[in-house]
Amino acid sequence: MKAHDGMYIDGGWRPAAGGDTVEVVNPADEQIVGRVPAGTAEDVDAAVRAARAALPGWSATAPAERAARLAALRDALEARAEEIAETVTAELGSPPKLSQAVHAAVPIAVMGSYAELAATYAFEEKVGNSVVHHEPVGVVGAITPWNYPLHQIVAKVAPALAAGCTVVVKPAEDTPLVAQLFAEAVHEAGVPAGVFNLVTGLGPVAGQALVEHPGVDLVSFTGSTAVGQKIAAAAGAAIKKVALELGGKSANVILPSADLARAVNVGVANVMSNSGQTCSAWTRMLVHTSQYEEALGLAATAAAKYGDRIGPVVSARQQARVRGYIEKGIAEGARLIAGGPEAPRERGYFVSPTVFADVTPDMTIAQEEIFGPVLSVLRYTDEEDALRIANGTVYGLAGAVWAGDEAEAVAFARRMETGQVDINGGRFNPRAPFGGYKQSGVGRELGVHGLAEYLQTQSLQF
Ligand code: NAP
Ligand code: MG
Repeated sequence: MKAHDGMYIDGGWRPAAGGDTVEVVNPADEQIVGRVPAGTAEDVDAAVRAARAALPGWSATAPAERAARLAALRDALEARAEEIAETVTAELGSPPKLSQAVHAAVPIAVMGSYAELAATYAFEEKVGNSVVHHEPVGVVGAITPWNYPLHQIVAKVAPALAAGCTVVVKPAEDTPLVAQLFAEAVHEAGVPAGVFNLVTGLGPVAGQALVEHPGVDLVSFTGSTAVGQKIAAAAGAAIKKVALELGGKSANVILPSADLARAVNVGVANVMSNSGQTCSAWTRMLVHTSQYEEALGLAATAAAKYGDRIGPVVSARQQARVRGYIEKGIAEGARLIAGGPEAPRERGYFVSPTVFADVTPDMTIAQEEIFGPVLSVLRYTDEEDALRIANGTVYGLAGAVWAGDEAEAVAFARRMETGQVDINGGRFNPRAPFGGYKQSGVGRELGVHGLAEYLQTQSLQF
């Protein structure tokens, strides 16, 4: 795999300040596919300075010109779609079809949506005797995880650039190569020097330096709740704006009137996709007592089909973590009906598609985010019981409701404490706001709501 040995700062690839590197490993075969520099506080400082220097020019650029750069960036990503997919497959381990259909395609769609929004958004509005200007917040520090490595970069950089902000990205150490490809696309799209900067490296070093840098006005983070808490605390101390997209433990609620087979099959597919490494995955399936045994049969059959079709999880550490959760599920009395803790292959960080029955709401596997191909099936006695279970975690990121009648599903969904709910298998919408209630996060990404995160208002009274 292609790997740059520098940082993309101020419009070019610059040598890193230190000599340390990060090895990128293919989780499917454990081979090293590349090396990137491990950034230090010095690299972060250079990147933030470049972003600050570029801010006055970029923020004063007409929205139509920003839109044109984003459209060119969309095209540059599209031209690289195949290379992007191959790179994500190499560093994340996702099967090629998933890499093409999701990891490469979704960022192109999102970038396209912000090219349009930059051109059409009302950056100025009249409110009575005031004119309200929507201005860029300033320099953005973006810290992203590995599970949808390009999507999560684009979901921050596209709205930030559309708003007129400049950006420094610190990508996940496990997936820096697709981030470097993105920097190449930015360069080719003619985005002015310093508007976008990339510093690869480790979270507690480069990531922390970015969060703490006084030249950063807004920190946008996606990742674990534990790191999110630290980042929010540091940002709070410095009165920086912060956006957090954290974990989830979403419920897939199957009401008795639903098409049970469809709801179970789509539900299992949702959890197994990307090897369960999706923050919005419906990792708890809630089934009425009267249909519970039938649903378990369907779920076990569906999970077995995924045996050879899912990729590995991202790293040995993640594999150990997921297997630890499976062992904990067994120890706490849940019943395995598919998969289990044994690694299905000798080489690569694979985990068997796993389904647990007899999961009760208080079990660890029903409360904590596992981030692997593990589904818990819970039973409920009536709708109120289902609602209590669905809302009974610290998270509130996503969810699903299935019912024979759409209105019945909507009525249930409206009582769920969660940021987005798919009704009877509704499709992902790249323009709908994405983000969490409760400990799933602060702020929203995507669409016009995602753009608003990067804007602040100035009101002039007449
Ligand atoms: P993580 O540590 O939260 O990683 C997310 C990003 O934050 C990475 O770029 C990471 O760098 C960086 N980071 C780590 N420590 C930091 C610090 N002290 N200051 C600033 N940045 C820091 O997540 P993880 O360790 O990769 O995964 C652990 C668990 O988090 C998963 O099992 C899953 O439950 C959850 N997770 C959730 C999401 C989501 O989409 N909500 C995504 C990924 C993971 P490094 O890459 O160098 O660690
Ligand atoms: Mg980490």
